[in-house]
Amino acid sequence: MARRFPPRHVLIAAALAALVLAGGALLALEPEAPVPRLLAAIALGLAMLALGALLLATLRHRLRPPIARLIHSAERISHGDYSGAVAVRAQDELGELASALDRMRQTLRQTTITRDYLERVLNSMNDAVIVTTADGRIRQVNEAANRMLGAGADELAGREMTSLVAEPERAAFVLELAASETRETALVTKGGERVPVSLSGSVLEETDPESRGLIFVARNITEKRRAEQRIRYLARYDALTKLPNRMQFQHLLQQAIARARREGSSLALLYLDLDRFKDINDTLGHAAGDRALEVLSERLAHIAPHGAVAGRLAGDEFGLFLENLPRDGDRRAQLGVLARRLLDDMGRAFHLQDTELFLTASVGIAFCPQDAPDTIDLIRAADAAMYHSKQSGGNTYACYSPAMSAASVERLMLKGKLRRAIERDEFLVLYQPKIRLADERIAGAEALLRWRLPGHGDIAPAQFIPLAEESDLISPVGEWVLRRVCADYAIWRRTVPDPGRISINLSLKQLRHAGFLTRCRSVFSQAGVAPGNFELEITETTLMNDAQTTLPLLRELEAMDIHLSIDDFGTGYSSLAALQQLPVETLKMDQSFVKGLPTSKADATLAKTIIDMGQSLGLEVVAEGVESAAQLAFLKEHGCDYAQGRLFGEPISAPAFLACLDAQRRGIHPFTRQFAAARSGA
Ligand code: C2E
Ligand code: MG
Ligand code: MG
Repeated sequence: MARRFPPRHVLIAAALAALVLAGGALLALEPEAPVPRLLAAIALGLAMLALGALLLATLRHRLRPPIARLIHSAERISHGDYSGAVAVRAQDELGELASALDRMRQTLRQTTITRDYLERVLNSMNDAVIVTTADGRIRQVNEAANRMLGAGADELAGREMTSLVAEPERAAFVLELAASETRETALVTKGGERVPVSLSGSVLEETDPESRGLIFVARNITEKRRAEQRIRYLARYDALTKLPNRMQFQHLLQQAIARARREGSSLALLYLDLDRFKDINDTLGHAAGDRALEVLSERLAHIAPHGAVAGRLAGDEFGLFLENLPRDGDRRAQLGVLARRLLDDMGRAFHLQDTELFLTASVGIAFCPQDAPDTIDLIRAADAAMYHSKQSGGNTYACYSPAMSAASVERLMLKGKLRRAIERDEFLVLYQPKIRLADERIAGAEALLRWRLPGHGDIAPAQFIPLAEESDLISPVGEWVLRRVCADYAIWRRTVPDPGRISINLSLKQLRHAGFLTRCRSVFSQAGVAPGNFELEITETTLMNDAQTTLPLLRELEAMDIHLSIDDFGTGYSSLAALQQLPVETLKMDQSFVKGLPTSKADATLAKTIIDMGQSLGLEVVAEGVESAAQLAFLKEHGCDYAQGRLFGEPISAPAFLACLDAQRRGIHPFTRQFAAARSGA
């Protein structure tokens, strides 16, 4: 910087010289003399000037650095650098100015930190934030908004908020309303894509009108929508077969019935149930069962005529309905052809785990309005017809007739009541004595289940055992029987040391049920009875159906010392070779062979063959359903080991059976009369 003043020491010297000059002049010369007085005055003036200049120079020298520092600090602050303090150590106004400047720096720094922080927060949000003016023009957006809308902040600034809303939602979008609520709507991206969002609006209240505005927070709900759609789909469609489920099928059927009513047309419903599907599940596992259902539903969808609607109504039950059939005339033959084609197609072999499988189905057909006026009744009618097909052996179809309905209603009613039968204590076990023909003594009994339904009388097992099997109730029912029999046995033994061997009927489903063996063991041990006193009867057809799976289970039962017998022998197709493999000890000759004895030659031959065959295999033979003394005589003569039947009375209660055993123990033979009659040929 150029110096405008002489250096300080020059000024000091000049001032001193002037002072000395002026003082000397005043003392040496006449005080009256005008010239020296003038000179002195000039010198004094000059000295004063020099002193003034000196003072100014000194002041300036002291103020320059702090002012420079203040300027520097102010410049830093103006460039947004709030880091260092404004450090001027002075007690005067300069110091105050510096403190004021530093306070300003601190405030600005705090504001900036807060602003930057808020900006970072906004930009890290996943939700889009859009700030608009009070009339809805975009002022500011966060990064999530940029990403969601595929547009930069510059492109969005100034645009109407409404323009971001996708059609057709835009028409219903009212800015003021949107600013005060949360709603689901859709925004549109720069590329024209719809983004479903949950949009919350709020009003930014500010004293400064310039700063007032609206804030919108938009959350992308694409995933939520997708999940909703999936849930809606799953609620209506069967995940495995992709066919409408029962609810959706009923809904579609209901609509179709309403159309048929309006148009005066007719509609046919085919109810389809796979035959023995449970066997696939039981023997090959559920994954195999699922695959079989998939294959069959594909075939069903493939063969269904154009416009027909197929659905999965339950596990292995399917429905198919056809609309627009003329109301006049009988369409049963036409639908019969379709049902036959369906059955043939379903019956084609398919492969599962390298196994060739064949499945058949039973079909029931019902027409609306001819057979039933509404959805529920139509389904019931078709179901009843299907059940009729099933009863006829399966792989066939039947058209509904009113007689079928009564049977079906009864079946449904019983199924419902069967569930509560155990807890309501409605079951009862009766015993049918088994008589050893060699010594004519009671050698045990067969336990036969009864269902004493109040207001209904006794229901025969032939009626409810299949229902229990269908609804998976057979295991609890079977276990109940086993417990009851073991408990009865324990009671009898207190009076009679050896009540003989008690046989219990076993259903295949029960045998294959996981945990059956474990439960069996625990029932025997809880009752404190030895398994060797019991025999399990399994029907011949049941045994031969998938012997490979059954055989290991039978071996385990044998290892537990439980006896096994083949029930209803002669009604199936067991080969001798197959029989030899099974760990059975007893053949129970079916009552149908006993019936015609001794007059029917055919029955006599068959009965003799069965007895001979049993003996050649080392098996004991029991004749079932012995009703007459003549039958008894024949059986005894041909070496049959045991007999049971009405000839010895109807199945009896546990105390009644105990009374028979006790009588026998005391030497009174309960069936002497029957044997005497057999001997006399009566
Ligand atoms: P089943 O094992 O062949 O039992 C013999 C059936 O013949 C019994 O019918 C019995 O009451 C009947 N019966 C006895 N004597 C005569 C006779 O002289 N003439 C004629 N015509 N019939 C006679 P029920 O008690 O109605 O049982 C039917 C079937 O139900 C049984 O056939 C058996 O397979 C099954 N069952 C019975 N109780 C149970 C059980 O606790 N569990 C299982 N799974 N099945 C059972
Ligand atoms: Mg039996
Ligand atoms: Mg039998």
